[in-house]
This record gives sequence, C-alpha cells and structure tokens, in this order.
Amino acid sequence: MMLREPDPEVVADIRFRDESTRDRTRSRGEGVYDWTPEKSVGVWACRNPRCRGYAQVFQPNIDAADAFDRQLAQRSEVPLDRTKILYCDACLSEYKRTSPDRRRGQVERMAVAIRQLKESDDPERERDLVANLEAWGHPDVPGLVSALRERKNAERGSNRRRSL
Ligand SMILES: [Zn+2]
Repeated sequence: MMLREPDPEVVADIRFRDESTRDRTRSRGEGVYDWTPEKSVGVWACRNPRCRGYAQVFQPNIDAADAFDRQLAQRSEVPLDRTKILYCDACLSEYKRTSPDRRRGQVERMAVAIRQLKESDDPERERDLVANLEAWGHPDVPGLVSALRERKNAERGSNRRRSL
C-alpha cells in the first residue's frame, strides 16, 4: 500500500500553528511581560527525509494533527504520518530561506495548469490538471472548476442549464 502524502494545506496549517506557538511577537501588548515559552510535549521525526533530526512538538500541533486525523477517519482515509509534518529547527530555517522561490515556482506551475484547463476539451486531461492543482494546494479548486465550466458553457451558448 502506498503511504498517503499529507495534504499540503493540512501541513501548512499545522506548520502555521507551530510557528505561532514559537512566535514571541504575537503576544505584543497585554501580557507581553509574563510571556513564557510554551513547553514542548515531545518530538516528531523531521519531515525532511534526508534529515535525521527531530522537531519539538507543542500541544497545538498534536491537537491540529488529531483533528485532521478525525476528519480523515470519517472519509476512511489513513491518519497523517507524524514523521511528515514538522521540520526540525535547521530544516525549518532552510525551508523559510527558500520558500519565496518555491512559492514563485508553485504559482507559475498553477498558472500553466489553469491555462491548460481553460483550453482543454479532454475530460481525462482536465481530471489530471484538477488533481495537480489540489495537490499543489490551490485554495479553491471547486470554485475554479465551476467558474471555468460556466465560462465554457457560456462560450458554447448552452448556458440554459445551470452548471454544478
Ligand atoms: Zn531536519
């Protein structure tokens, strides 16, 4: 059986929670003087497969991962692999350092896929493109698909039937 890659949005959300728990500036204002670092509650293996380090885990990470696992279980999907969620500190700073490039690359890839989707008349190809956009973390694939479908219907002059 192939191990399911964690949903990129799920990972982004958990990472966001992870970073917010570490972010001192978040508590600027009231209570700032009695801010204490949250205590880590354990470690998960770093999600970088080439790294043998460990990431400190905080309670919000566990809560978020458990909540996603419950959603996955409802859809009969396997739970998230805890070794593919967090980066260790070294890999996290490398990830942050390279993330503007990665985002730019991802935006370009998505733009190409969306253009191909607009021009495509092949349902199988369209399914592949949609699956790619979902895997790359496009924020609203269903909205995009229905907008494109409406546009295509309008172009064909067959807009009488409401599209999904
Ligand atoms: Zn690492």
